[in-house]
Amino acid sequence: MPLDVHQFPCLSDNYGFLIRDRATGLAACIDTPDAKAILAELGKLGWKLSLILNTHWHPDHAGGNAEVAAATGASSVGPAEVERLIPVDRKVGGGDTVMLGETRFDVIDSGGHTLQHIAYHDAADHVAFVGDTLFALGCGRLFEGDAEQMWASLQRLAALPDDTRVYCAHEYTASNARFALSVDDDPALKARADAVFAARERGEATVPTTIGAEKATNPFLRAPLLAARVGAAGRAAHEAFGTVRAAKDNFKG
Ligand code: ZN
Ligand code: FE
Repeated sequence: MPLDVHQFPCLSDNYGFLIRDRATGLAACIDTPDAKAILAELGKLGWKLSLILNTHWHPDHAGGNAEVAAATGASSVGPAEVERLIPVDRKVGGGDTVMLGETRFDVIDSGGHTLQHIAYHDAADHVAFVGDTLFALGCGRLFEGDAEQMWASLQRLAALPDDTRVYCAHEYTASNARFALSVDDDPALKARADAVFAARERGEATVPTTIGAEKATNPFLRAPLLAARVGAAGRAAHEAFGTVRAAKDNFKG
């Protein structure tokens, strides 16, 4: 039975996601960027929330947990690091399984942006919620982990089927595209960047993306191929990645 996904923009550039297992009608939210927006969307949909699925501890991801739980009775699932902010009912990490009715999520360790960041993968529906690990044409900043950890996390996501729909937590794609064009002149990237700029002009979301699109055009996943251009020729894959990541951190586009 399919999973319904309802996506809505909130805060300055976050996306909120409400999901529902069609077989049982049970619903969950991915992270809690904005409790009031989540509760308003739930009201519009008429869905009853049973789970909060956190990807990492940052306040724009777990800051609304208390208000959402108090209003809905939902219980929370997330990495232990979320307890830096608020207690979590069930702590999970890579290899664990989370059920929403009949929908199964495999928890994927995607540390690097924060040390215990996780992603939720529903293999049956070809859907992954990746928080701040993988973005359309981008990836999360290395606030806590290092290039080696983040590269390993990105490789775990890149190993998912190409048609996996990837729900990233921020609309950063236009600025990611400007950076990508500065380090890569691949025609597929140019075409995608043009489509991204046009979509944003029209006010359209560029999320979700797919694993296939990211493998083809995301400069962070393509880092080993771009090593020479970023001054990391002959270096290990995670070092090439780290060089591209540092170039993005310093990019004034
Ligand atoms: Zn974050
Ligand atoms: Fe975030």
